[in-house]
Amino acid sequence: MTKRFLSIGECMVEMAPAADGNFGMGFAGDTLNTAWYVRRELGEDWDVAYFTAVGNDAISNRMIAFLDASHITTGLIRRIPDRTVGLYLIQLDNGERSFAYWRSESAARRLAADAEVLKSSLAAADLIYFSGITVAILPPSERQTLLTAIAGARANGATIAFDPNLRPRLWEDADTMRNAVMDAAAVSDILLPSFEDEASAYEDRDIEDTARRYAGQGVPVVIVKNGAGEMLALDRGNIQRFKPDPVASVVDTTAAGDSFNAAYLASYLRSGELRPALEAGAALAARVIGRRGALVVD
Ligand code: ADP
Repeated sequence: MTKRFLSIGECMVEMAPAADGNFGMGFAGDTLNTAWYVRRELGEDWDVAYFTAVGNDAISNRMIAFLDASHITTGLIRRIPDRTVGLYLIQLDNGERSFAYWRSESAARRLAADAEVLKSSLAAADLIYFSGITVAILPPSERQTLLTAIAGARANGATIAFDPNLRPRLWEDADTMRNAVMDAAAVSDILLPSFEDEASAYEDRDIEDTARRYAGQGVPVVIVKNGAGEMLALDRGNIQRFKPDPVASVVDTTAAGDSFNAAYLASYLRSGELRPALEAGAALAARVIGRRGALVVD
């Protein structure tokens, strides 16, 4: 029987500078990036679906067509009339990338507006993946709707994976972010934080601090990513440390964490073993940071 990996969040239009001074259009977003890589990593016995909300307009249709062409199931995606998808533009200034966003009124912010639709969309999922960005973009009253639906799916047997992906600027204030992320952790089975972000938000002194803070919320498996540094996995009380192989030339770290999560989860879902999953995650992330862009084809 086919199993379902369901990723929840926001996919945006990406405008990236090209060599000729024009901008090239693509589609990306943290939870979409992970779904896109998971689709490539998992076999045909898994359906990989994306849950979000888009508009009824031409650019929303193009986004759906892109997901369809990437073999990501789009049937659950909500259509919100009078809204459209968010957009970000990458600017290059002496080789340094900066991002400008147009997303404050995006359709994806309404993805949890209907609790019943949300509940039925999550019902058939075996693994549900979401991130701190998924939670941050929702109106505060709908954050709880999302966590309640996820907790309900978990009670019915789904495994929940969560990447805090801390982005202070998306939140009203730092306390709201810290509390909401801990609430999301409390309904999750697998946590995939990145140490640098966690240390600045929660004042964790080291990777073990981060892992134990989330384990304290009852999370069975915590994988603390740490850039080029040593990672830590805390699996039901057992600690493993893992150092990724050095990458000779780092071209663009966009989607390093998203692709790590994808290969880690795909491997973990196949074998249930920690070490090969960490190796798979680090190997894919190493390939992704060796190329430009979020979605790297080979
Ligand atoms: P995020 O992109 O979420 O901030 P990290 O920077 O921690 O996440 O990176 C995610 C993963 O990408 C790491 O766990 C590691 O496997 C890999 N990675 C990132 N930077 C490097 C690097 N300089 N050398 C080798 N691997 C890296």
